[in-house]
Amino acid sequence: MVHDHDHSDDHGDHHHDNQYSDMQARVKALETLLTDKGLIDPAAIDAIVDTYETKVGPRNGAKVVAKAWSDRAFAEWLKADATAAIASLGFAGRQGEHMRAVFNTPECHNMVVCTLCSCYPWAVLGLPPVWYKAPAYRSRAVIDPRGVLQEFGFSLPDGVKIRVWDSTAELRYLVVPLRPVGTEGFSEEQLADLVTRDAMIGTGLALVPEDIR
Ligand code: FE
Repeated sequence: MVHDHDHSDDHGDHHHDNQYSDMQARVKALETLLTDKGLIDPAAIDAIVDTYETKVGPRNGAKVVAKAWSDRAFAEWLKADATAAIASLGFAGRQGEHMRAVFNTPECHNMVVCTLCSCYPWAVLGLPPVWYKAPAYRSRAVIDPRGVLQEFGFSLPDGVKIRVWDSTAELRYLVVPLRPVGTEGFSEEQLADLVTRDAMIGTGLALVPEDIR
């Protein structure tokens, strides 16, 4: 087994983001109230949440990755001080304060989890998907990352090492996937279209140009 766990040393300090839980509870209560009064349709809410999980939210991160792919100086900055580099593009705020960007290489694939709760870089990825918060992903991502990736529909060559990063409330990770081949001459905007949410969590790879044609 070639992956190594990269649990942060201070995991004992890891605390659940209680404000988030309170917020979730309040949102749930509000949703129930509004549904009972016939003011909202839960299906419509689900559609909105899905939009923020998969479309609007992760677009910020996609812009960060696309810029790193096209601008070497920005990539170096992102590597050295992700929080500042990301903030320079206007993406900052709650749960995006302490960011670290981890770059995939042909030899090493990075994958992000929060084993204790659901820490997630909201500023660049939006709302976490349901599976990210599920106990099955949180435990298996560290025990059997290769198996998890297979369930997400891809496998890495045997020689590629998988590095699993355990998020905390203090430090959140953004995976910078490998730039797909055949994208020479792509604009940042075109590149961003290839960057999926899952690619930035490490449970996917960037799309190739053929995927979006
Ligand atoms: Fe967490």
